[in-house]
Amino acid sequence: MVTLRFAPSPTGRLHVGNIRTALLNKLFALKHGGAFILRIDDTDAERSNAEFEAGIFADLERLGLRHDETFKQSERYDRYNAVRDLLITQGCLYPCFETPEELELKRKRQLAKRQPPVYDRAALELSDEEIQALIDAGKKPHWRFLLPEGEIAFQDQIKGEVKINPATLSDPVLIREDGAYLYTLCSVIDDGDYAVTHIIRGEDHITNTAVQVCLFETLGFPMPKFAHHSLLTDENGEKLSKRIGSLTVRGMTEEEGFEPAAILSYLARLGTSQPLEAKATVEELAQDFDIKHFSGSAVRFTPAEMLSVNRHLLAQKEFPEIEERLKILAPQADAAFWNVVRRNITLMKDVVEWAKILLSEPALIVDPEDRDFIVTAAACLPEFAPQSGGNVWSEWTQTLKEQSGRKGKSLFMPLRKALTGEEHGPEMAVITDYLGSERIKARLQKALAITG
Ligand code: GLU
Repeated sequence: MVTLRFAPSPTGRLHVGNIRTALLNKLFALKHGGAFILRIDDTDAERSNAEFEAGIFADLERLGLRHDETFKQSERYDRYNAVRDLLITQGCLYPCFETPEELELKRKRQLAKRQPPVYDRAALELSDEEIQALIDAGKKPHWRFLLPEGEIAFQDQIKGEVKINPATLSDPVLIREDGAYLYTLCSVIDDGDYAVTHIIRGEDHITNTAVQVCLFETLGFPMPKFAHHSLLTDENGEKLSKRIGSLTVRGMTEEEGFEPAAILSYLARLGTSQPLEAKATVEELAQDFDIKHFSGSAVRFTPAEMLSVNRHLLAQKEFPEIEERLKILAPQADAAFWNVVRRNITLMKDVVEWAKILLSEPALIVDPEDRDFIVTAAACLPEFAPQSGGNVWSEWTQTLKEQSGRKGKSLFMPLRKALTGEEHGPEMAVITDYLGSERIKARLQKALAITG
C-alpha cells in the first residue's frame, strides 16, 4: 500500500510552493491507488495558530486536494514521549547543557580555525554525576541525537543518489530545553507509525532527510522513498518571497481570479518536460504523472504561463459547469453567450466586459473613412434569426467585398468596431450569428448615429 502525506506547519497561509508539494504527493498517491494524509505539524506552539490551521483545510478544499486522513502532531505527545524515553535508554539521545552563547562561541572558534562548525559532542563526556549535579543546580538539558558513524546515503527519486558526510553534520537537537519537540523527531515517528512509503518535499529538506534516514534506521521503521523537488523561483531566478500575498491560495484564486484547476494543471507540469495541459481534475492530472519527469534544477514560476492554462481551461468548460458562477458575474448570460465568449477570456472575470459588449449597450465605433462602408454593410445585410447556426458572415462579407472593393482587415475591422466597439474578440462569424440581423442592423445604425 502506497501512502503519502503533506505536512504543513500552521504558521502562515499556504503558498504556491507548499501547494506544489501537496499536489505532487497527492498525484503520486492517486496514480498508485494509495492514501494521501494531511498532517498538521504544530509542535511549534509559539508560531502555530488555529486560524492558519483552518486556512490550510480551507485552501486544500478550495483547490480540490482532498485527503484520506488527517491528524495533528500536538495530539501525539504520549507517543513522542515514549519514543524519547526509549532513545534515551538506548543512548541515542544525550543531554546537553550548553547555552546558545556558549555554542556560538564554539562555532566562532571552529570557523576561525577553518573547521566545520559542527557540535563537538562535549556533552558526551559528562559523567552521570556531573549531569545530575547540573540538573540539581536547576539547569535544563536539550537533547541531541547521536548520529551514527559512516556516510549517510539515500536514493532520491528526483536528485539521484544523495550522499552526506556525517562529519559535516552536528548531532541534531531533537528536544529543546523547555521539553518542546522539534520537527525532525516527530516527523519520523509519524511517518513510521502511519507507514508512509514515499516522501516528496522541497530540496531545502535534504539535510533533514540525512538525519531522518538515521532516525528511521534507529527506530526500526521501514525506510520510505524520498523525492526532493527543486524550489520555485520568480521569473528572475530569485527565491519566491513567501510574503507575496498574491501567491497564497486565497490571493491566486479569490483576488487574482485563477481557476483552482488551472493552478494545479500548471504546477503539475512545471519543472517537467511534459507539455502544459489544462485538466479539470486531479484524477486526470494523475494519469500521466511520474515523479521521474521532474527535473532537479531550479524552476521558474511564470504567472503568464499559468494564465494561458487558465484560458485553455475556461475554453473547455461547457455552460452547465459554469452557469452558476457566470450568472453571478453576468445575470443575463445564457449558453449561447458563453459559447461565444469562452475562448476569448483569460480569467472568469473577463466575462463582465463581454457581457457589456454583447448583452447591453457598448460604445460603438465608426471611423470617418468607414462611414460609407458601414452604410453599405447595413443595406446589404441578409435577414437571419439570432443563433441560427448558418454562415451569414461569409455570405455578407462576400457581397460587401464585391460592392466596396475592400478585403481583409479593411473589410472586417470596421465591422468589428461598429458591432462591438473593440478591435479584438471572438470570431466575427460567431458574433454575427449570435446577434442576428435585427440587432446587427440596430447596432450599425446606432454606431453611425453616434459617430455621425
Ligand atoms: N512541516 C514541514 C514543512 O512544512 C514538513 C516537511 C516534511 O514534509 O517533512 O516544511
